[in-house]
This record gives sequence, structure tokens and C-alpha cells, in this order.
Amino acid sequence: MSEEQRYRPDDDCPLFSERLEEHIVALTRGDLPNHGRFCGNCYTPLSHDSARCPHCGALTDGPLAPVDAIPDELIDMLREQRKTESRIVTTFAYSGFVLAIVTGLAIVLGIPYLRAHLLPATIVYGLYLLIAGRTFAGVLGGYYGDHIAYDRARTRMRMRWAAWVSAR
Ligand SMILES: [Zn+2]
Repeated sequence: MSEEQRYRPDDDCPLFSERLEEHIVALTRGDLPNHGRFCGNCYTPLSHDSARCPHCGALTDGPLAPVDAIPDELIDMLREQRKTESRIVTTFAYSGFVLAIVTGLAIVLGIPYLRAHLLPATIVYGLYLLIAGRTFAGVLGGYYGDHIAYDRARTRMRMRWAAWVSAR
């Protein structure tokens, strides 16, 4: 699953606008320097003349003035979020393969003809693994894994954000 296809719930959290996320990804890759004009509240990249953040609505002449770099702590938050997500998605995808192996064995051993004939049993088992393994891994990793991973990683990241906001 590519990063562009990631599940994104609309949870009303002002954190990590798409523009900020793209910016941090570019920073991490080394495509951009960590310098510019960012919202003082949510750190969304701002154009030079904008008086209001397009993401959270904070005014640039308000109490949280724009900053010229994204804080390291915030970059680390996004990295941790992504790491947590990919770990959970991978775990779910592997569970899909294990599920295919186990159910495939149950099918082959449950049909008397296949149990008695090794070659057809191997062929059926191989085909089943090929199809069911991909399907289960896709459904578990891509759908359930992605949703659960995003929610869990996001919850954790919001806690870090709350701690960060109260300290900044
Ligand atoms: Zn903002």
C-alpha cells in the first residue's frame, strides 16, 4: 500500500494538514530545507502574504505568530505516527497469510479425496494459498489494519501534541 492511499479519517484534529505532512515527508527525504513560513498554531506551510492559516484559521498577527521552521518535536511525532501505522498494517497482513495457511490445510485435510492424493492436494493447496493469501492479507492489512493502525497512531500522536502545545 502506498502512502498516498492511506486511510484518513476526518477527526477534526487541527494536526498535520496534508500540506504539512507533504512538507515533512519532503524534508525527511532531503528535498526541502526546513525553512519557510509556517502557521504558529498547526505549522501548515503559509504563503508569504497570507494573513490567515488556510488549515486551522489562525491569524498571522494573532497570539501565535508564524514561525520560520517546523519544530523537530513535530517532525518526530509524524515519523512515530507513520512507524506505528506501518508496524500494525504489516502485522495484520502477516495474519492474513497465516489465516490462509491454516484454512488451506483445513480444506485439504477435510476433503477425503485430497487427503488420499498428494499431487491434487498440493495443487489445490498451492492455488488456495496464492489466492486466499493475497486476499486475506489485502483485506486484513489494507482495510482493518489501516483503519486500526491510523486510529491508534493518531490517538497517540494527539496525546503528544497536547503535551507539546501545553509546553510551547
Ligand atoms: Zn494553522
